[in-house]
Amino acid sequence: MQTTALDEIIAILDHGHRILVLTHIAPDGDAIGSLLGMGWLLRQHGKSATLVEQDTVPPEFRNLPGADEIRPEPPEQPWDAVVCLDASDPARLGMAFRPAAYGKAPVVVIDHHVTNLNFGRVNYVDPSAAATAQLIVRMADAWGWPISREAAECLLTGLVTDTRGFRTSNVTVDVMATGLKLMEAGANLADIAQRTLNYKPLAVIKLWGPALEHVQAQDGVVWTQITQEMRRQVEAPNGNEGGLVSLLLEAPEANVSAVFAEKPDGRVEIGLRARPRFDVARVALSLGGGGHPQAAGCTIDGPLTQAEERVLPLLADAARSEG
Ligand code: 5GP
Ligand code: MN
Repeated sequence: MQTTALDEIIAILDHGHRILVLTHIAPDGDAIGSLLGMGWLLRQHGKSATLVEQDTVPPEFRNLPGADEIRPEPPEQPWDAVVCLDASDPARLGMAFRPAAYGKAPVVVIDHHVTNLNFGRVNYVDPSAAATAQLIVRMADAWGWPISREAAECLLTGLVTDTRGFRTSNVTVDVMATGLKLMEAGANLADIAQRTLNYKPLAVIKLWGPALEHVQAQDGVVWTQITQEMRRQVEAPNGNEGGLVSLLLEAPEANVSAVFAEKPDGRVEIGLRARPRFDVARVALSLGGGGHPQAAGCTIDGPLTQAEERVLPLLADAARSEG
């Protein structure tokens, strides 16, 4: 019988005890939900799981069970395995990823980004999955491990946020079955949706004011920008735009949408969305980022106007070619 990446990962985790679990910088619900869900599964089966995330946990995920145990830096100790979740390349893991310190410990990658660079010793990458959390549920099933209520709540948070409430084009019967399984394990879908999807800090809502005034549309692309000056005006901290790029895609003029956000260091973070049958993952990958065909991102050099001049033609191409 041929062994799959999933079999190999289960063998590694079964054999090991001290497991380091990492997820991507600027974490979203799937990053935090998968990190915590994996942590619960490992600990409930007698493993020692250390959960590390370089950036602060966003407020809407801070009340997930176990969230207060996430550390910003890995302690210096030998590991039996290092598990990287929801990250398509090592740079996405930030400072928490220190492969030189891992010795013989295998790096294991579990992810659903089509742009994944397969940087682990074992890579379980399935771009047809709607969330990394879905792959963790599959792993638990293959292992024969039941899913506790705590793990279920974290994993359903990953599934709900990455699918924007089971509405994205990658929601299959299998995704719904995974959601059902997590609800049966005790996760509360309405609570999770309320706490995560129906949440926007007031400063982000205010930031949408100047950002929406700036919206432009051309060649199937609807885009806007967020400058440091706009953030100062409404006293919005840097970071999350609260799904503005998804709102822009709702315009019938848009096959592709983009938000160009100026960072404090002058670099430009670009959030991208595409309607089904269009693909922004390719554009993001060509600019050093990554993602999914319908949702991707990257960070490139500024200044803002130059970044827009460079990227808008690529987006117009992506908005033209239905593939
Ligand atoms: P969002 O717009 O929600 O921040 O990101 C959408 C998707 O693009 C996510 O799957 C995210 O992982 C990916 N993504 C966003 N920014 C980057 C980036 O700078 N690098 C990579 N590799 N992926 C990104
Ligand atoms: Mn994800």
